[in-house]
Amino acid sequence: SGLEEVSELKGANAAVAQAYTGGTLEVRDLHMAYGSLEVLKGIDLKVPAGSVTCIIGPSGSGKSTLLRCINRLVEPRAGDVLLDGQSVFSIRPELLRARVGMVFQQFNLFPDHTALGNVALAPQRIKGLSHDEATAIARARLAEVGLASRADHRPAGLSGGQQQRVAIARALAMSPEVILFDEVTSALDPELVKGVLNLMEDLGRRGMTMVIVTHEMNFARSVADQVVFMDEGKVVESGSPEEIFGNPRSQRLRNFLAEVL
Ligand code: ADP
Ligand code: MG
Repeated sequence: SGLEEVSELKGANAAVAQAYTGGTLEVRDLHMAYGSLEVLKGIDLKVPAGSVTCIIGPSGSGKSTLLRCINRLVEPRAGDVLLDGQSVFSIRPELLRARVGMVFQQFNLFPDHTALGNVALAPQRIKGLSHDEATAIARARLAEVGLASRADHRPAGLSGGQQQRVAIARALAMSPEVILFDEVTSALDPELVKGVLNLMEDLGRRGMTMVIVTHEMNFARSVADQVVFMDEGKVVESGSPEEIFGNPRSQRLRNFLAEVL
């Protein structure tokens, strides 16, 4: 149940709950098109180390495309993305994706691997760790997301909320500098949402740099350091949660909030 999942998380072994050293992320005048469809029309964004940025905005405004450009799942037409001051376009995509984790709405776990296997895979394949080293890291990360006791379960034997926490543990196992979250609670049954949001809030408190695309306005309001409102491929407004939710300046943001709140 949802309550069970929240308490699983609270029971996570505090000894393994480490502090993180998040990196900085900066997006400069980013343009992206699918064929003739212009989807990002000059995005600028600054995400300080250890801070949480929530991106909100209507469907089709380019939020997912922005995240996909940041870790080079798609290539923009123009502009730059700097990770700790270094252009991501000078980093091999595989290495970049170790430094910038991404968690999706559809967990994308490997169905034939256990939870532990799913978390241990990338550290072995991409970082070249031994099976034993990678397994030790995977066990620690699963404990950190409250799933030590589910290490040997396959995804099909876990709830959606637990699968999503495995996906987060998998991102953490690479020791990323930044984690990108794309509507990670949108596919979950309502009672499972809270456990995943609590985990993200906890990661933020411990210093992970995070960019979170979300429809959870209460979460954005209470957890974000910065809220960014996108519409039609542009950043229309950004600011503190108080500014964005308490004092929206543009009509477009006021209309959006009226629809979702
Ligand atoms: P959001 O995440 O804000 O809903 P997206 O970044 O997914 O927005 O999409 C922005 C626009 O790009 C939409 O009009 C969408 O239909 C279009 N789009 C997204 N992915 C593709 C794709 N692979 N090929 C063509 N068009 C796409
Ligand atoms: Mg999207």
